[in-house]
Amino acid sequence: MTTTRVCVAGGGPAGIMLGLLLARHGIDVVVLEKHDDFFRDFRGDTVHPSTMNLLDALGLRAGFDAIPHHPLTMLDVVANGVRVHAVDFTTLPRPNNFLTLMPQWDLLDLLASEGARHPSFDLRMGTEVIDVLHDAGRVSGVRVRDSDGESKVRADLVIAADGRDSTVRRRVGLRPAARGVPADVVWFRLPHPSRHVPDTLAWLSEAGMLITIPRPDYLQCGFLIPKGRFDDMRAEGIERFRARVARGSPPLTEVTDHIVSFDDVKLLSVQIDRLPTWTAPGVLCIGDSAHAMSPAFGVGINYAVQDAVAAARILVPVLTRGGGHAEIDRAAARVQRRRAWPTAMMQRIQQVVHRAIANGRAVRVLDNPPTRAQRAVMRVAIPVARPLVARMVGYGFRPERLSG
Ligand SMILES: Cc1cc2nc3c(=O)[nH]c(=O)nc-3n(C[C@H](O)[C@H](O)[C@H](O)COP(=O)(O)OP(=O)(O)OC[C@H]3O[C@@H](n4cnc5c(N)ncnc54)[C@H](O)[C@@H]3O)c2cc1C
Repeated sequence: MTTTRVCVAGGGPAGIMLGLLLARHGIDVVVLEKHDDFFRDFRGDTVHPSTMNLLDALGLRAGFDAIPHHPLTMLDVVANGVRVHAVDFTTLPRPNNFLTLMPQWDLLDLLASEGARHPSFDLRMGTEVIDVLHDAGRVSGVRVRDSDGESKVRADLVIAADGRDSTVRRRVGLRPAARGVPADVVWFRLPHPSRHVPDTLAWLSEAGMLITIPRPDYLQCGFLIPKGRFDDMRAEGIERFRARVARGSPPLTEVTDHIVSFDDVKLLSVQIDRLPTWTAPGVLCIGDSAHAMSPAFGVGINYAVQDAVAAARILVPVLTRGGGHAEIDRAAARVQRRRAWPTAMMQRIQQVVHRAIANGRAVRVLDNPPTRAQRAVMRVAIPVARPLVARMVGYGFRPERLSG
């Protein structure tokens, strides 16, 4: 059995960041990650300006810059064949006035290596949380399983950072309220086409919404499809699917035959939900465990990291002065009060986007070529909207700062 001050279930962006931030203050923290490594394809890749500001504040810039990544100053959307520079990060303050695409496993490796420099940071890979322990009506730790069998980790506070299907959350009886999202996403890779295509985040057409995330050697693609329609799509055959991708993004037509069969296409369910209460005695949920975000605007990682920063800032003073359980639980509740509003705002916007895609309004917004009236509106509205959208996407609502 291990005894620690804080036990974090889940080594995703929220869990690793919180572990690192607590360890920097000398707080004993055990982070438990069920997988043996961070290498998983479905994770988002976006690192936002606010996360880079944080990495600067943590002194991790040199390490970050040493990892290959793909900076984007603009996010283009192609709607009905018309390219729109929808988000312009250069309107944000320097030096982090861009968004960058970095494989999430590299970012997590960087944070975990930094954590390992602190003696109070104990990251255990290949260790799954299977249950919580109770003591006098309060959660007092977790039961875990690793290659040596089962054991216990006792802690004054358990952080549920174990993602949208959180075990800890379920074991303490917290249930998220689902916000209906009429979409799933199918995930696949394509090589870059031979002719250069400007970096494009999303292609909106009658075929649906196709997301194309440029990685150095290939495009990570996601096609948003109506919820529950994947089986119909499979039944129609891979040829029809390839044709649909080509209709979604005509420049990709020449590479669609790299989708050999549906074995190359993974279905991921898009989910937006939120816990009405993020805490139970002895437990605080953060990141996707408190609020699953959809891939829209790629803000889920950023929000998970921001939760971790807020949690550290609020919890560190209580934990370092030896606060007791009641004080720790009150501090945990303050984390929810701080983060619930920015989360709800962003989720509402994501829902609006999903609805607009589902009912076709997002595509019909522009003719091709745009009418004179549409061009006039774009000339006036886009320069006004761009910096606002850049702030919203780059920082989220209520960006967090580090404690001392
Ligand atoms: C298809 C798709 C694409 C997305 N694209 C983007 C994007 O481009 N940019 C973006 O910002 N967001 C994106 N998101 C959202 C983003 O992935 C999440 O919001 C973000 O990863 C949440 O971070 P987290 O640390 O809270 O949870 P997670 O990243 O889910 O991490 C949870 C961790 O806990 C571990 N775990 C789970 N159960 C246990 C257990 N019982 N014991 C121990 N460990 C456990 C998991 O292995 C995992 O490592 C996308 C989401 C989807 C579905």
